[in-house]
Formats: sequence, C-alpha cells, structure tokens
Amino acid sequence: MRIGVLGAGQLGRMLALAGYPLGLQFRFLDPGFDAPAGQIAELVAGRYTERAALERFSLGLDAATYEFESVPVAAIESLSLVVPVFPPIEALATAQDRLFEKRLFGELGIATAPYRNVETRSDLDKAIAEIGSPAILKTRRLGYDGKGQYLIEDASDCEAAWNQLRSNAMILEGVVPFRGEYSLISARSKNGEVVHYPLVANEHKHGILRVSRMAPRTDEMLRLEAQAIDASNSVLERLQYVGVLAVEYFDAGTRIIANEMAPRVHNSGHWTIEGSVTSQFANHLRAICGMPLGSTASRGPSAMVNLIGGVPSADEILRIEGASLHLYGKEPRAGRKLGHVTVVAPDEASLNRSLEKVCALAFATSQG
Ligand code: AMP
Repeated sequence: MRIGVLGAGQLGRMLALAGYPLGLQFRFLDPGFDAPAGQIAELVAGRYTERAALERFSLGLDAATYEFESVPVAAIESLSLVVPVFPPIEALATAQDRLFEKRLFGELGIATAPYRNVETRSDLDKAIAEIGSPAILKTRRLGYDGKGQYLIEDASDCEAAWNQLRSNAMILEGVVPFRGEYSLISARSKNGEVVHYPLVANEHKHGILRVSRMAPRTDEMLRLEAQAIDASNSVLERLQYVGVLAVEYFDAGTRIIANEMAPRVHNSGHWTIEGSVTSQFANHLRAICGMPLGSTASRGPSAMVNLIGGVPSADEILRIEGASLHLYGKEPRAGRKLGHVTVVAPDEASLNRSLEKVCALAFATSQG
C-alpha cells in the first residue's frame, strides 16, 4: 500500500519509519524545503491547496493522512474525492477551532475550563466579568506550543490582550488550577476497535512540551486514567474516528478537565516507539489501513525528553541506561524541536535515575 501524508515534519518521518516494516510506501506533501520526512521518503513540494501539487501527490495512493492539524480542510476535502483520508474531516475541523472543540466536549458531557466566545472588545469585558480572572485569551485557530495566548491577570490587562490578538477570532478561558497535565493517546480502527496507551504526564516550559512520562501505575493515576478513557471513548465514538487521537487533560483534583485534542500522532506519545509493544505511529498506520490494532502494553516505565533548539552529545546520551536517541534531521534554531530521547526502564527508580541524566544533558543544550 502507498500512504500519502500531508506535512513532512518529524511526525511524518516517524510514521514512515514505523510503516516500512509493514511493507508500506510513503509520499509526503509539504511546502517547505527543510522537511524531515523528505529525507527518507518521496516528497512532493507544494502548497496544500495547490491543485497541481495535490494531483501529483494523490496519484496511486491507497490511503492518506495528515501529521499536523493546521492542514487546510479544503485540501482534505478535495483529496477525499480521490482517496480515503483519515482521521475524518469533522475531527480535523473540530480540532482546528478551540470553540468547536470546547462545544464538542460540552455536548459529550466532558468538563472543560469555563469559556466564552469573544468577538468584540465588549465581549471580552463581559467574559472577564462572568468568568473572573486570571483567565487566558486564546486565538480560536492556529495556536500551538502556547502561541496565540495572553494571560489576563486582572481586568486591567484586557486592553493589552485585546490589542495583541484582536485580528483573530478568540475565546476567553478561565485558568484551571490544575495539579498536573496529562494526555491520553488512543487509536480507533475502521471497524471500531479501540485501544488506549497508558496515561502520560506532561511538563511544559514556555508553552513547549519538555518531558512526557508514562504515569506510574498508582491507584490515583489509574483512577485518573479511567476518567480520561471514558472521555476519549466518547470523542472517538461520536466522531466515528479512525487513526490515533491525543486528548490533553488537566487533573483538577476531583475530576479531569479536557483542554484540547489533536487528531494525529502526538509528541507526548513518542516514548511508545521503544516503550510500548506497538508504537503510536504503527497503530495509526494499522488503523488507517484497516489492519488489526497492536497491543499498547508498555515494556516498562517509560519517558521522553524533547531536544529543543540544541542537541547534546549523542555519545553521552547513548551511554545512559535504557536511553534511545531520535534526531529529526532539522537545522538547529531556538525553540525548534530537533529530536527526542526515549528512556525505558525495568522499574520507576531506574527510570528516575536515567531520566535525570537525560534531562541534565538535554536542558543544558536546549534553547528556547
Ligand atoms: P494549549 O495551547 O491550550 O495547550 O495551552 C498551552 C499550555 O498553557 C497548557 O499546556 C497549559 O499549561 C496552559 N493552559 C492552557 N489553558 C489553560 C487553562 N485554561 N488553565 C490553566 N492553564 C492553561
């Protein structure tokens, strides 16, 4: 089978690496020249909405998918006329807009932060009066890694927040006093088979994910995981989803609160490459190709550290017990995800020891 992927970044590259053992072939479409997946597979260079590029890209494909959620819905619509595209368009359109996403969670009875749609300056004043502060003004679309957000500490910040983001559609969200941030990565196949990976605990800095760690299997974490599974199951079912879905949750103490979802393989699931019997990349491909899904059982306590803006010495990383290095072939630039390190260990104490060493090396070279 030949699989087409819109976007040729590191997620696409890791999809191809997981797909080759299954005998799959890949073609990518990406407007950029510096495309990590283009180094290992066929690349059509062109814009997603460019008819000629889409035609060249879609020729002879058996299935198509996308590796980032800002891909224009119009491109998926025209592609769908000639090749099956997964995850479904509705999932993509919903994930592209924070308001649609919150409404979907609300319809399914999944708790979210309190929010208001903000279209005018007076909407913002009204929203702050109703929700209270602190609150976060967010662009509805195209926000990632904490971009397109303004923290409103009190009502006197409204003017500056409005001026910064006013050219976009926005929502105001109340700040959730969370105890931790988690994500649940799930896969659903064409025939409705569903699997979930263990819940992942995530740490961010400057809005960028730094460390993801499989949540330890304590009673408290299993309780949290069960709530997340219930919520994600209803999203998967409602969207008749096919592929890997990541949903980010806040642990708000008595309950989980859904923050956002990504209709694709996710940075917080990179540890599954070595840490799980079947990686998130392999399961995404199995799902969209109509193959049976693979076991999501873990091979031991696992974690992942992102390499941001700089890369430590490979030798030093590779000397660490249980560590595996993944580099994406990208030019270093501050704030750019250049690679990651996975750690898999026989027990939590060994994981802590190795993770500490990886973090020391990764943080010493990170920029941004
Ligand atoms: P997002 O782009 O929505 O994932 O936001 C980026 C990060 O900002 C999240 O990972 C949280 O750390 C923080 N954040 C976003 N929304 C909220 C909220 N409503 N309450 C508290 N923290 C938030």
